[in-house]
Amino acid sequence: MKLTFLGTGTSQGIPIIGSKHPVCLSSNPKDKRLRVSVLIEWDNKTYVIDCGPDFRYQMLRANCNKIDGILFTHEHADHTAGLDDIRPFFFQQGDIPIYAHKRVMGELEIRFDYIFTTKNKYPGAPNVKKNIIENKTFSLGGIDVIPINGYHDSLQVFGFRFKNIAYLTDMKTVDNDEIAKLKELDILVINALRIQSHPSHFNLDEALEFIQKVKPKRAYLTHISHMLGFHEAVQQTLPDNVFLAYDNLQITL
Ligand SMILES: [Zn+2]
Ligand SMILES: [Zn+2]
Repeated sequence: MKLTFLGTGTSQGIPIIGSKHPVCLSSNPKDKRLRVSVLIEWDNKTYVIDCGPDFRYQMLRANCNKIDGILFTHEHADHTAGLDDIRPFFFQQGDIPIYAHKRVMGELEIRFDYIFTTKNKYPGAPNVKKNIIENKTFSLGGIDVIPINGYHDSLQVFGFRFKNIAYLTDMKTVDNDEIAKLKELDILVINALRIQSHPSHFNLDEALEFIQKVKPKRAYLTHISHMLGFHEAVQQTLPDNVFLAYDNLQITL
C-alpha cells in the first residue's frame, strides 16, 4: 500500500493569501501546504480521500492519471470544492465512483447540481456513481475499508481504515467504540491544527493524546495551520514515532 500526501494544510492552505506571518513567508517547501487530501494505492487501484479546491493541481503534481474513486470525509469546502475537476478522469474513464455519508452526498447534490442532474444535462459536465457509506465496513477495490466515525464540533465526519493504515482528519471528538477500531495500526494519520485549542479541530496536545490512546507504530499529523509553527521546529518537539506530514510525502507499506 502506498499513501501520498497531496495536501496537508488547513482550510485556507499555507501560505494564506496576503499573510505576512513568518510561516506563510517561509521558503521551506515543507511549510507550503495545499488543502488536505491523500492518495491511497494498492494492487493497481488508486483512490483519493477528499477533493478540495487544489484537486486539479494535486493530480498534476502527483502525476495521477487514473482514479478508481473518491472517498469524502465530510462536506466542508476545503474537502469538496474541487469536484468539477474530475472532468478529465470522467472523459477518459466514464462515471467516477464517489463514496460519502448520505448527508454529505446530499450536500454535494446541492452544490454540484449540474453534475447530479438527470434532466437537460450539459454534455461537458462529469458523471459520478454514488455510493452511500454508513458506519460499517465496506468493500473497495478488493479490500475491506472500515469507517471511523468522529465529530468536528457537532458535525459527523468519517475517517477510514485501510488494512493497517488509518486516515482521520477534521476530528475533535472520537468515541471509545470508534477508537477500538484502530488497534494495531502501522500508520495513523490524524489532524493537528495548531498549538491553541479550537472548537472543531484537535490541537497538537489533543492529537498527541489521541495517538497515545491508539498506539500506532507511527503517526503523521495533517490539516495543519500556519499557527502550528515552522515544520522543522515543530518536528523537533514531537515524540519519536510522530511526524508532521508535508505535501508530496509518500509512505509505502
Ligand atoms: Zn478541513
Ligand atoms: Zn471541516
